[in-house]
Amino acid sequence: MLKLGIRSSKRRRRGKRTDRFREIVSFSLMASYLCGIAASAQDLSLVEQKVHKLSDTVWWVEPVPAYGGNIAVSAGEDGILMVDDQLMPLTDDIKEAVASIQEGKIDFLINSHYHYDHAGGNAAFGEDSLIVAHHSVKTRLLERREAGFNFRDEPHPAEAIPVLTFKENVTFDWNGEDIDVIYLGNTSHTDGDVVIFFRESNVIHTGDQYVNLNGYPFIDLPVGGSATGLRDNIGAMLAMIDDDTKVMPGHGPVTTKTELQAYYDRIAATIDIVEKQKLAGKSLEEIQETGLPEEYSKFTGFMTIPTWIQQVHSSLID
Ligand SMILES: [Zn+2]
Repeated sequence: MLKLGIRSSKRRRRGKRTDRFREIVSFSLMASYLCGIAASAQDLSLVEQKVHKLSDTVWWVEPVPAYGGNIAVSAGEDGILMVDDQLMPLTDDIKEAVASIQEGKIDFLINSHYHYDHAGGNAAFGEDSLIVAHHSVKTRLLERREAGFNFRDEPHPAEAIPVLTFKENVTFDWNGEDIDVIYLGNTSHTDGDVVIFFRESNVIHTGDQYVNLNGYPFIDLPVGGSATGLRDNIGAMLAMIDDDTKVMPGHGPVTTKTELQAYYDRIAATIDIVEKQKLAGKSLEEIQETGLPEEYSKFTGFMTIPTWIQQVHSSLID
């Protein structure tokens, strides 16, 4: 069990409710598409940002309920570095939560990937913060993509676009530790997922390559995501961390290497099950009809089993 101090950010009513309505409606549609969670405008206005201290310099900002992604914050004498920013309607509360950790501007904002529920708040931070991301995040934001086949009507404002991009890794020497931002070599949940490893604190933010909601991952196939790539990247994460590492998933509670290993095992086993049937000449529909054995079919807290089978099937090279 992780022992965490919890503080809630002060809630306040936000203005511009009509402006927010369109964003919220489109968010609801995509949330339904992505993870089966339908959020109404009222649901989103009820999201609270809870602040948990994970080390001397690293905090977890947890949206409750988990419609936006988990945020990691490094705060200390060098300043503030933040990972992910959820959705635009939640950014006032996020700023309040970060200020409750440490006052001052957010120097660096890292996007774990391009999806609207992780990088959707970029425009609210980009004037003050240097946005850092894998190069493909910039590409996807410039093509107005929000997730999969969902696109924005309008371009993102210039301040939402990452300024500093990279294709492999970048390291921050910040608040007394190395903070490694690592592309693990395979397209995965998307085509530009990174993990952020706070080395001294022994905290890793996995982005959505790991979603801790008792289910299978979502694979963004339209941008070249891959179930087998995700499996291999999770394997690489497991090789980097130890039993004391605090593992912050894209959504859901902070957990341990043991849980990440169980997630890997489940993904690897179900990919094997689908692959064997595909190699035996079964159609996707037949494999979906057969389904997964009971020990694997009970994990339905995120994607449905037929969707996971379809995403695995599409990821396997013929
Ligand atoms: Zn995502």
